[in-house]
Amino acid sequence: MMQGLLFVLAALAGLVLIVNFSRVETPQIAPMSGACHSKQECRAHFDQLEKEQRPLECQGIPKQGGAVICRTLPNEKVKIARSETEYHHEEADRLGKIIVGFDRDEKRTTLSIEGTTPVEYTFTPRQYDLSRINGLPPSRVSTFTEAQLGKIRESSAKKSRGFNSRVEEIGFRDGFEIPIRADYVKTTNWGAQRVLNGELKRPHYGVDLAAPLGTPIHAPADGIVSLADDDLYFEGAMVLLDHGQGLISMYLHVNDILVEDGQAVKQGEQIAGVGSKGRSTGPHLCWRLKWRDRNLDPMLMTEWPRN
Ligand SMILES: [Zn+2]
Repeated sequence: MMQGLLFVLAALAGLVLIVNFSRVETPQIAPMSGACHSKQECRAHFDQLEKEQRPLECQGIPKQGGAVICRTLPNEKVKIARSETEYHHEEADRLGKIIVGFDRDEKRTTLSIEGTTPVEYTFTPRQYDLSRINGLPPSRVSTFTEAQLGKIRESSAKKSRGFNSRVEEIGFRDGFEIPIRADYVKTTNWGAQRVLNGELKRPHYGVDLAAPLGTPIHAPADGIVSLADDDLYFEGAMVLLDHGQGLISMYLHVNDILVEDGQAVKQGEQIAGVGSKGRSTGPHLCWRLKWRDRNLDPMLMTEWPRN
């Protein structure tokens, strides 16, 4: 009996020795997670640890037409994937923040940083209206003269410049305010399928707010004016605001533009008045929102979660 106990004690002591011995033998720099043997290896090792401790965290409106702001490490590259073959990368700003928007008919999106758990979204399909507009002059619908085509090309070049804006700092923290504070009537919901003169067209990527001519339009959030132009073919006159990283809100058909290219505007500042320029059937604001080539629903941004 006594002998057996002594044997067990001796065995335990041996085990402790072996454990201690192996500890001494392995040069561990990070006690929690194995060893590294060179400065370079250790740097990579700690970077990985830091990533694991700060995975991608996102909040916002993860819906079709919505957007989220994610937090990660400064300047981290984030993979934005719709499938294994359809993806691209975007870089977080120097505070580690990154905006990601979702299209009208987005099915799923996976956001990931190599070596960490991805954030996955599967979207519930939204229901969109069918919107018929008849009696438009035919030239505005499908056939254009050479002069009109020239004007259209000139307008698109201006718009591309405005949409290529990438302001680094994110200008909205608590989402959007509705840009019209006076009474308005919402005449078209975002995403409505358009049928112009009986012809099926692209969905309408704006929210139409009808209000009297000259009704003030206010910036829904802080931003930088990336285009202010009153000579565009379809839009007539348009203001673009970059709210950060190319999240760009758009104000179409406006009158009396009060801002100019490159100007910084604060939430609530008046930028223009309601108008009816370009392809418009009466005074209204067509309010739109884009992120990269994706069309977002600006109204959804007014429901942004507030902390
Ligand atoms: Zn519209």
